Amino acid sequence: MIHIKDILSLELRELEDALTALGEKKFRALQVFEWLHKKRVTSFDEMTNISSVLRDKLGSEFFIGRLKPVRQLCSLVDPTKKFLFELSDGNHIETVLMSYEHGYSLCVSTQVGCKMGCRFCASTIAGFKRSLEPSEILLQLYEAERISGEKVSSIVLMGIGEPLDNFDNVIKFLRILSDCNGTNMSLRHVSLSTCGLVERIYDLAKLDFGLTLSISLHAVTDKKRSELMPVNKKYGIDRLMTACRDYFAQTGRRISFEYALIDGENDTLEDAKGLAGLVSGMPAHVNIIPVNKIKEREFTSNRRSAHRFCEMLKGLGVNATVRRTLGSDIDAACGQLRREYEI
Ligand code: SAH
Repeated sequence: MIHIKDILSLELRELEDALTALGEKKFRALQVFEWLHKKRVTSFDEMTNISSVLRDKLGSEFFIGRLKPVRQLCSLVDPTKKFLFELSDGNHIETVLMSYEHGYSLCVSTQVGCKMGCRFCASTIAGFKRSLEPSEILLQLYEAERISGEKVSSIVLMGIGEPLDNFDNVIKFLRILSDCNGTNMSLRHVSLSTCGLVERIYDLAKLDFGLTLSISLHAVTDKKRSELMPVNKKYGIDRLMTACRDYFAQTGRRISFEYALIDGENDTLEDAKGLAGLVSGMPAHVNIIPVNKIKEREFTSNRRSAHRFCEMLKGLGVNATVRRTLGSDIDAACGQLRREYEI
């Protein structure tokens, strides 16, 4: 079988190497890159400033990936839209388009399923299938913008999967996304959410991309966090917080902490005090999310308890807010739509 390559996953310099290896001039790579990532064509035939000979050659060496939209849900309570996309191997992923005062934000998936096993998360229940290619992460943006006709101004890596468990492909995605010859999105408009893979947080800090790191904390003692998030058994809260301090020291970016409030699990004054202690002395923002109900679990919470917990934190000097609930009527939380579609 002839192996043809996924051209949308190549950074510009890789495309340059690939095309010079085929005997082409380097500047052709820039032209092709612009067709793919600026004009976002879906076939080589549309690349009209490139000879038909080279277009045929490109077509025999590479493919341009697509995502098939199989479902689209529009919220009736706010402008949130949720897309279910089918990948070329028949797997499904979710992407959520959210509207804020400053523009549209897109929540993208980075893996099919997840290995991390967080107890409250729908993405992990059916287990892990595979990591997404850089092109499959990018195409969520390209398809969402194409279908909705809207321009996305920020991206959150908070959909299905653990982005730091797909480190190399996520980094490639970020490099292609921010390339000035393509989408040219500043990485200051990107947030990456992680359950806390400590080694990879150090690696990310070294790259100094300027993106916002969001840590899914959700509990303040190792006992409770390990119960809710098995990943904590490997690293523990101390190591995680040390990595966060290093991230701030290296990048100057304040850290965002996600805290899904669950009745009777992590919602006491003691928890608030523990959280205040953990983030003290570090520029941090705590985002409180009333836990989204998923049908496989008993966890509950509501906006009133989230606001109460938020007030406790503020009283302790912590910069905290309750996250707006968007798309609650269309199950816009992680992994819920894919679960329903695949069952
Ligand atoms: N794996 C990454 C990113 C995907 S999850 C991470 O753990 O951060 C995105 C965010 O949604 C995380 O903060 C996650 O903990 C949270 N989340 C998952 N299920 C949830 C639920 N049922 N209610 C509230 N937040 C949830």
